[in-house]
Amino acid sequence: MHKITLIRGDGTGPELTEAMRRVVEATGIDIEWETLDAGAGVMDKYGTPLPDHVLESIRRNKIAIKGPITTPIGSGFRSVNVALRKELNLYACLRPSFSLKGVKSLYKDIDLVIVRENTEDLYAGIERMIDDDTAETIKRITRGASERIVDFAFKYAQKEGRKKVTAVHKANIMKFTDGLFLEAARHVAESYPDIEFEDRLVDNMCMQLVQNPWNYDVMVMSNLYGDILSDLCAGLIGGLGIAPGANIGEECCVFEPVHGSAPKYAGKNKVNPTATILSAYLMLKYIGETEAASKVLQGTARVIEAGKDVTYDLGGTAGTSEMADAIIREITG
Ligand code: NAD
Repeated sequence: MHKITLIRGDGTGPELTEAMRRVVEATGIDIEWETLDAGAGVMDKYGTPLPDHVLESIRRNKIAIKGPITTPIGSGFRSVNVALRKELNLYACLRPSFSLKGVKSLYKDIDLVIVRENTEDLYAGIERMIDDDTAETIKRITRGASERIVDFAFKYAQKEGRKKVTAVHKANIMKFTDGLFLEAARHVAESYPDIEFEDRLVDNMCMQLVQNPWNYDVMVMSNLYGDILSDLCAGLIGGLGIAPGANIGEECCVFEPVHGSAPKYAGKNKVNPTATILSAYLMLKYIGETEAASKVLQGTARVIEAGKDVTYDLGGTAGTSEMADAIIREITG
């Protein structure tokens, strides 16, 4: 039996995680969920959007899956999503983008993986006002974190039988920070002679991904570039509604869709549950439940390919829960 922490999230998070939970349970695997909340909704009760008992639950169970959580813009509390990754040292963010038949997209046969460093760079939150009209953020890059994330990318490539790792940077301009990241990447690459290694400037990488995404395989990069390029890759496969993700550390892992809380659709049973369901697929694979993982992936792929019981973003009229019902029918046969 697996004990898994389920953080429902806010906005559309609760309806998405409910759809995901029902789909996972349809595979018949034995899971006990510890369902908890985080974000703005728990501020009044606990005085923090990320209460200690949520962190403790993840530390105890080692595996968590979450819905998206809203971050107030400009003022208010810092991102719960970023805090979670930092607190639990979930240093690697894994975001695969693969084409699914039946999804309208400008591209076919995409199979890319972004490995994003999750703990430093401009997202470390080292920010201050210099005076009323000037603000600054420090971009912090360390050799240790850079080597660790590139090593993770190579190990992942090895495990998944992938052929190439591309390091993405802007070392021509940020010679110290991105220069250090690139130096670390080149150093780690020497230990993996069987896997091709190359590097690209981030601006060029954006153009290359739009013009010829099939030339790439696993891409590894620091936090900000990873955040932006994973949305770009989600765009290549047909949008955020189908893009899953995982945040992986040495002790625990938190699985979540790439997209945000889509607050305008909250409670409307409208948004696509695929990204959250495919995050569960990554989770099942990670915990060794390969048969259940495959059922979830195949069931979801078949519903999307049939194109009948799909949500608005995939050209259908089904709601979140109806799409989940259709996937469950596929799984239970
Ligand atoms: P968003 O991803 O919520 O929405 C962007 C666009 O994609 C919107 O048009 C939305 O309707 C659409 N969309 C998103 N998910 C969809 C789905 N499952 N099916 C169909 N369409 C979908 O991005 P945003 O509007 O920039 O962010 C909203 C909030 O989410 C913000 O507070 C942001 O900070 C937060 N956020 C959280 C996470 C996370 O929890 N990891 C990630 C990104 C953004």
